Order: sequence, then structure tokens, then C-alpha cells
Amino acid sequence: ITPRPLDLNQCVLKVEKFLARLIGEQIELVARLTPDKITVFADSTQLEQVLMNLAANARDAMDRRGCLIISTGRIRIDQEFVRLHGYGKPGDFAVLSVSDTGAGMSEVVREKIFEPFFTTKEMGHGTGLGLSIVYGIVKQHNGYINVYSESGHGTTFNIYLPVCGEPE
Ligand code: ADP
Ligand code: MG
Repeated sequence: ITPRPLDLNQCVLKVEKFLARLIGEQIELVARLTPDKITVFADSTQLEQVLMNLAANARDAMDRRGCLIISTGRIRIDQEFVRLHGYGKPGDFAVLSVSDTGAGMSEVVREKIFEPFFTTKEMGHGTGLGLSIVYGIVKQHNGYINVYSESGHGTTFNIYLPVCGEPE
């Protein structure tokens, strides 16, 4: 991987058209990008891979109709958050959120989603690798990922990446 200073919003904009095609016309794609310029130190191909894997899952969870919201922002991660995740250190982080209005998942499923080859999809419809790849990429970037989901009420994945100084 080749991490470089990247503008997070630009990374989203770059793949927006591709994601729109991936999810299809029945699902609305909404990008809520922060007006602030947020620079992360990341590999752009891998970040695009993260967005594609999350969008593909959102599409599968929405059974045609629904809304996929991608948002960006910045938060301050504190001791408590670090303690909860068991690694890293506090500081300024970029947030990349991918939300869908799909079927959501039960707690039993949610506990396993980052395991390689875990899938609830029919044979031939999922490899169960998408989220384990996402998890690996986020970890490699010294980031965090968490998920909020409820059966019948949709799902939100939040990805936190350390921000870096402005590129030259
Ligand atoms: P795959 O998509 O091949 O099944 P993933 O690793 O991408 O593998 O996802 C693992 C499982 O996590 C899925 O089979 C599904 O049960 C669950 N999942 C992932 N994303 C979502 C989502 N947005 N909404 C509901 N369930 C999801
Ligand atoms: Mg998948």
C-alpha cells in the first residue's frame, strides 16, 4: 500500500458515479460532505475499495428501494473511545460514514460480520470477504470501524482515520 495525503471529500467524489452505478437507479445516493477540507494519510485505491464493499452490502440489504448516505466529517477521539477499542491513541480523526435504509442485521449477525467468509447470503451471492477486507484496510491505516444496526431499521458503518497535515 502507498499511503499519501488525500482529501477525503475528493476521494468520495471520485467514486460517486461508480457507486451510483453499483447500487442501481432505484436506490438514491446522497453525499453529505463536510465543507471543511479533511486530509487523511491513506492509500486511495484501498479507500475506494472500502467504499465499494460497503456500498455493495448496502445495495444487497436494500432489496432495490432505499437510500445510501455517505457522509464525511471530523471528530476528536478521546481516551474513553480508545479504551473501548483497545488500541490506538486519542486525537483528531476523519469520519467516513456509510448508512443505508436496508434490512439491518441482528446482534448475532453483527458480532460475526468482520470474520473472513462469514456471509448470510445464498451460495454464489457473497463470498463473506467484503467486510474482513474493509476491517483489514482500516486497521492498516491505524483507524477504527464501528457499526450501528437494527433489524428492519438500516445500518450505519463509521470509519475513523487519523487526519494528517495539509499536503504541500
Ligand atoms: P458478503 O457481502 O459476501 O456476504 P461481507 O463481508 O461483505 O460478505 O458481509 C458479511 C455479512 O454482513 C453479510 O452477508 C450480511 O449478513 C452482513 N451485512 C454487511 N453489510 C450489511 C448491511 N449494510 N446491512 C445488513 N447486513 C449487512
Ligand atoms: Mg459484501
